[in-house]
Amino acid sequence: MPYTYFISDLHLSADRPDITRCLLTFLQDKAPQADALYVLGDLFEMWIGDDDNNAFTMEVAQGFKSLADKGVATSFIHGNRDFLIRAPFAQLAGFILLPEQYVIDLYGKPTLIMHGDELCIADLEYQQFRKKARGWWWPRLMLALPLSLRRKIAQKGRKTSQANQQKLTQEIMDVSQSEVVKMMHEHNVTQLIHGHTHRPAIHELDIDGQAAQRIVLGDWYDQGSILKVTADSIELQNKAFN
Ligand code: MN
Repeated sequence: MPYTYFISDLHLSADRPDITRCLLTFLQDKAPQADALYVLGDLFEMWIGDDDNNAFTMEVAQGFKSLADKGVATSFIHGNRDFLIRAPFAQLAGFILLPEQYVIDLYGKPTLIMHGDELCIADLEYQQFRKKARGWWWPRLMLALPLSLRRKIAQKGRKTSQANQQKLTQEIMDVSQSEVVKMMHEHNVTQLIHGHTHRPAIHELDIDGQAAQRIVLGDWYDQGSILKVTADSIELQNKAFN
């Protein structure tokens, strides 16, 4: 039976080659048989610009490109870590760059896909940053800075964000139910797939009196988390690093 894969929150970095290896194996062994692959953000732990290319990012791009060359359409939605990915890297990886919220026809079912950080509206400080970072001037300003300076800013930003996260409660870091319902209602869907929270689950809910589902992808810190969807099944799988 035909199927589609969804992954997110791999948080790839040069200092975790085990995660990269797991991804490359998946792209080579499993993904070629799929109808399509969707990467829903935070593929990389951080991204400071497509000009920061190195052996590590090239290896990842090549892995995805080989899949695209086999005819598997691979789409990418930005996460809060890698929202500065632009057309040059997308081209290298064979990615179709999608807008931050997008409705696909998933075996006849309209399905809203997104990274999911926009659903965590209780974290006001982050939402303020998000608005700025996804606007028009901030990315332009950042990308115009020398690479070495961007690297420093990103490292500092990571430390600040780690410190801030420790202060936040579990409720604040999770999605707001009201925002989920609002977003699904706006896009007129009963199925939503997102990542970001690192809480893999299939939630049953009610949207305007209709049975609906919110499917949350898992992260790749300890194992590969993969969502496999066919016309009549939804399965969250785990792929060991080994
Ligand atoms: Mn995220």
